[in-house]
Amino acid sequence: MTATRVPGVPEIEDGVLISTNPATGEEAGRVPAADADAVAATVARARQAAAWWQGLGFTGRKARLLRWRTLLTQRIEELARITGQETGKPEADAIVEAVGAIEHIDWAAHHAKAVLGPRRTRTRLLTAEHVGHIEYLPYGVVGVIGPWNYPILTPIGPISSALAAGNVVVFKPSEYTPIVGQWLADTFAEVVGEQPVLQVVHGMGDVGGALCRSGVGKVSFTGSTATAKKVMAACAENLVPVVIEAGGKDALIVDADADIPAAAEAAVWGSMTNAGQTCIGIERAYVVAPVYDQFVAAVVEKAGKLRTGHEIGPITMPRQIDIIRDHIDDALAKGGRAVLGGAGAVQPPYVAPTVLVDVPADSAEIRDETFGPTLTITKVADTDEAVRQANDTPYGLGGAVFGKADAVRIARRLRAGMVAVNSSLTFVGMGNLPFGGVGDSGFGRIHGEDGLREFARAKSITVRRGPSMLPAMTFERTPAQVARIVKAVKLLYGRKR
Ligand code: NAD
Repeated sequence: MTATRVPGVPEIEDGVLISTNPATGEEAGRVPAADADAVAATVARARQAAAWWQGLGFTGRKARLLRWRTLLTQRIEELARITGQETGKPEADAIVEAVGAIEHIDWAAHHAKAVLGPRRTRTRLLTAEHVGHIEYLPYGVVGVIGPWNYPILTPIGPISSALAAGNVVVFKPSEYTPIVGQWLADTFAEVVGEQPVLQVVHGMGDVGGALCRSGVGKVSFTGSTATAKKVMAACAENLVPVVIEAGGKDALIVDADADIPAAAEAAVWGSMTNAGQTCIGIERAYVVAPVYDQFVAAVVEKAGKLRTGHEIGPITMPRQIDIIRDHIDDALAKGGRAVLGGAGAVQPPYVAPTVLVDVPADSAEIRDETFGPTLTITKVADTDEAVRQANDTPYGLGGAVFGKADAVRIARRLRAGMVAVNSSLTFVGMGNLPFGGVGDSGFGRIHGEDGLREFARAKSITVRRGPSMLPAMTFERTPAQVARIVKAVKLLYGRKR
């Protein structure tokens, strides 16, 4: 390590990207950094591979994706170790992450044909002589830009859907986790060696920008809201469609009939797993007054047992530490109280679990993404107030509700793409559930049927089977035929119900 290298901060030296562990500074690995020309060459190679991959059909691609799934499963401990070395993440967290990724590959491989395969539509009466056909065609080359916080799971969601749909992929991992990204592409090449179907390009943000401008058919972006806007601007130059998975400020609501120990357990895990560096991490809890004291005590008791360097890993991106410190300081300065952790919790590269109460609604801890192991707990009069406060943010990614009688009704009222009832974060691990947000959290969906359709475009074909009874689309129609059309449409749609 050179004297100037800061642990965890990626650097490019002589065209090589060097990745280090944020806790120890130990080198995690090095990979060649790309420039715009290298990105263009990679995309050109991908374009060549696209026809071969598409030609395998759903069945051929399924077989290969399942082989990749099996390989990742067999080597899950190795993958977790590499992820831990590069991000500092506890290996148990990396295992949970990898399990989610394996689930998404499996689901996409098994369901792509049923969701995207060609099918006939039902006859419409006004055009009864035509049959409709729908098929979903791949975009060709899809660019996937990923973040560092879940370097296995977040890219594999869109990658597995894009590949199952018949696209090839050029993946730009975060500069903080290039080694994990390279490992994913290398293992894929072990099972699909014929053509470069999944390639990686490494580098800083400019490489992501070059990928957006490289002529890819679609871009899947996962990262911060601020970068999402730059990605959209770059994609807008060539009208390249994008799916955006951005940040969040997720809330957990606890109703009076909730199982409080279970709610506290889910709140602690949802807010502290991966040291709180989770897009769908629980950052705020809104708890109705009758169970507030019991919930706060249970959270403090459970979170107090978590140790930095063990269950709580380091903050992977060193500059995030200043943001976490600012949020805690601002909350305390505005009248908030730390019932666990607090002012002294930030000890780089770690942040100790911090639970804050009485934090005013205009504090950064309530309004902005903190991305650390912190949780605010706010007492509310009832669940209406909880929903109103939970929804009072430009973000709208996930959320959680604990309760019995009204929990699902409350979940429906949350302005969020996904909500877990009586657990937290569960939706991200279910291959058949769409994942994505609203507002500043982005748009479009990965995972599940919607995720597959995100990486394919619908193509409609009509086939005429016989003469037209109601010939509307021709200049050769007669006045009598037009009168028949009017009669038919009135019969079908003109009657009051
Ligand atoms: P980031 O926005 O800093 O970087 C994400 C990726 O974009 C990186 O690969 C980066 O190199 C690239 N990039 C940077 N500038 C670019 C540019 N101008 N053009 C193209 N690409 C560019 O995000 P991050 O710090 O890596 O990740 C943390 C953020 O990601 C948090 O906000 C978190 O909430 C969010 N996130 C969202 C989800 C989700 O599914 N919604 C999942 C994980 C993380």
